[in-house]
Amino acid sequence: MKIRRISVYHQTAPLTRPYKLSGGRLRFEELDCTFVKMESDTGLIGWAEGTPWGHTYLPAHGAGIRAAAELLAPALLGEDPRQLDRINRLMDLTLPGHNYAKSALDIACWDLFGQSVELPIAELLGGRYEEPVPIASSISTDTPDGMLAEINLYRDTGYYVHSVKVGGSDTDLDIQRIRHLKANERPGEFIFYDVNRAWTPAEAITVMNGVADLPVTFEQPCETLDQCAQVRALTRQPISLDERLETEGDMLRIASQHIGEVVNIKVNRVGGLTKAKRIRDIALASGFKFLIMESGGTAVADTQALQLAQSIPTELRLGTWLCQEMLSVDSAPGRGARNNGRGESSAPVLPGLGVSPDEDFLGDPVAVYE
Ligand code: MG
Repeated sequence: MKIRRISVYHQTAPLTRPYKLSGGRLRFEELDCTFVKMESDTGLIGWAEGTPWGHTYLPAHGAGIRAAAELLAPALLGEDPRQLDRINRLMDLTLPGHNYAKSALDIACWDLFGQSVELPIAELLGGRYEEPVPIASSISTDTPDGMLAEINLYRDTGYYVHSVKVGGSDTDLDIQRIRHLKANERPGEFIFYDVNRAWTPAEAITVMNGVADLPVTFEQPCETLDQCAQVRALTRQPISLDERLETEGDMLRIASQHIGEVVNIKVNRVGGLTKAKRIRDIALASGFKFLIMESGGTAVADTQALQLAQSIPTELRLGTWLCQEMLSVDSAPGRGARNNGRGESSAPVLPGLGVSPDEDFLGDPVAVYE
């Protein structure tokens, strides 16, 4: 099987309400989505999505994905999409780095691979653990009562995992937020506190030790892995790493230097499912727990992450995230990753990715390589 044509689409996905991290950082209102359609010489069509979480969050932007495709897509024409490590090496030789811009091309290959052997991607990734995956909410920074009110809205649709955004220079207020939400946690819930790199090491140590009596998990407390290692050495609660987990080398370092106990693998940030699988395997061998999600995107992107999440042993996976639930448009109505009404979701048991976007939603391609 050979890759015969690659078409690239661009769409905008508005959020249902503006989203902000602590202190008004990273406020934005819509996502810039890129979709890739990959056609094989056997008549199969693979799909994938690459959507950064805005362009102010991390070094990634929607137009960058489409610009990278100008270099990467021609290099993949004529290649066998089932040879994923070879495909990724070819992309790395064509354009070193820029992992986020390679993800949709990698995943479209996985979709073709799965369809060609009539197996879902989760099974190709090593095996599918059947139980549904808990979905994490994403709770904006607010007053303690305001944040609890937002958690209650999610509870009404079944959610029992919550990613709560904290991290201001007012460490007393962050301690109040965590104590208030912990006091109002319900049995069976998992609430973790995502700092999105906002604390200095001093602030992280102050807050985490200020709630050292509580069994809570923190995510990405500080900007760099060095800073997180400093915090790790002086605090007790589990630390999850996501924004500074971009490569297999990062994962090796996190594991070998004991910087955290949980990894949150953002499939598109690490370059797609091939590289996410390598990171998964290092983390599995090192005793980590997992969150698996995309940085952002529609139901197609959510489904990509869910295919990987479904390959993690049930007792080790803490959750995923459905960005689609925060959008006012739907790229694949009624299909792909959805809340089952109990705050959980399952990857489709269909060959390949198991979802494709509506071409009506996409409009005409912005570029075609053949
Ligand atoms: Mg995070």
